[in-house]
Amino acid sequence: MKRIYLDYAATTPADPRVIDEMLPFFTEHFGNPSSVHSFGQETKSAVEAARETVSGLLGAAPDEIVFVSGATEANNTALKGTAFAKRDKGNHIITSAIEHHSVSETVAALKKEGFRITNLPVDRYGMVDPDDVKKAIDEKTILISIMHANNEIGTIQPIAEIGKIARERSITFHTDAVQSLGHIPVNVDDLDVDLLSGSSHKFYGPKGVGFLYVRKGTKLTALLFGGDQEKRRRAGTHNTPGIVGTAAAARIAHESMAEESVREAVLRDRLIKGITGAVQDASLNGHPTMRLPNNANISFHFIEGESILLSLDMEGIAASSGSACTSSTLEPSHVLLAIGLSHEVAHGSIRFSLGRWTTDEDVARVIEVLPGIVSRLRVMSPLFAERTSHGIVQR
Ligand SMILES: *Cc1c(COP(=O)(O)O)cnc(C)c1O
Repeated sequence: MKRIYLDYAATTPADPRVIDEMLPFFTEHFGNPSSVHSFGQETKSAVEAARETVSGLLGAAPDEIVFVSGATEANNTALKGTAFAKRDKGNHIITSAIEHHSVSETVAALKKEGFRITNLPVDRYGMVDPDDVKKAIDEKTILISIMHANNEIGTIQPIAEIGKIARERSITFHTDAVQSLGHIPVNVDDLDVDLLSGSSHKFYGPKGVGFLYVRKGTKLTALLFGGDQEKRRRAGTHNTPGIVGTAAAARIAHESMAEESVREAVLRDRLIKGITGAVQDASLNGHPTMRLPNNANISFHFIEGESILLSLDMEGIAASSGSACTSSTLEPSHVLLAIGLSHEVAHGSIRFSLGRWTTDEDVARVIEVLPGIVSRLRVMSPLFAERTSHGIVQR
């Protein structure tokens, strides 16, 4: 059976071209980039070349890129680093109800340290209202952190508008751009951000490496101490292969983005239409148009998402319920609750995320097997029995 991977939002396979560029940096070019000898100098040049590539693609300057271990570290650095650096200016942080846990749990930890947090709500499509951001700002606000595109429902936020509001008031503005990078244009000046997080394994690069963009002049306290690397903004020996792979992956994603995003959006729409056309009481989550080209999040009313996932897995199809990080818990996704879904409907939601190797046949196969899976599960569902006996359709 051919396996079908529709969980690209959780992680992507590394592109073989990326691996080819990385390999020499494990063996032949192994020097520590901080060493003065030629072994170190050649890897230092590779790291600096990667920094130029990544910064260039974002419209940033090379020294505004800090290489880190991934977006969890980038987000922790952005939030804690700003909070601690600007503590004397104020203690108020604005964020949204739909952030990735690496943001929301960091903010929760800062709350315990005495910071005041405003968690902005979102509308039924998962959109933050820039007016709400404006209203939440007070004289103690030091940081605004709103993600660029949501990892569960794919909604793209009005980051440029929020950036303008933050800029006018000189408040540091951070965005988690993990899901948008490589899929839609990301330019730090167009978005008007001071800090931006990226993770290589979400755009066909290696796992365990990413970057934080830090606009020149942005005050930031480092999380890690013990070395001069990254201009003392992130101590620790450089992950040279990972950094080289990040640049290669970013370059390839950028080159293919225009074409690939259209191709994926066509497949995404076919998948959404195919499923919602064939399955009753199945509804799309997230914004109808302002959404990532590769995300389709669908609620199947009256049944459990976990059961759908297991049945799909038996057909060789990999998707996700909630985000990968929460799927081991029984709590429904905070994102789905934030857009107003009931616990029951949130529990019956599946995220299909498409990518570089998703084909027409893959999408057709999902549309072929899913209606059967849903009806089999609904036959066993007490919620569904109740609904048919009362003739109520819950939307
Ligand atoms: C995956 C993800 C992260 C975490 O990235 P890692 O590099 O795996 O730590 C952060 N934010 C979003 C939106 C993500 O999808």
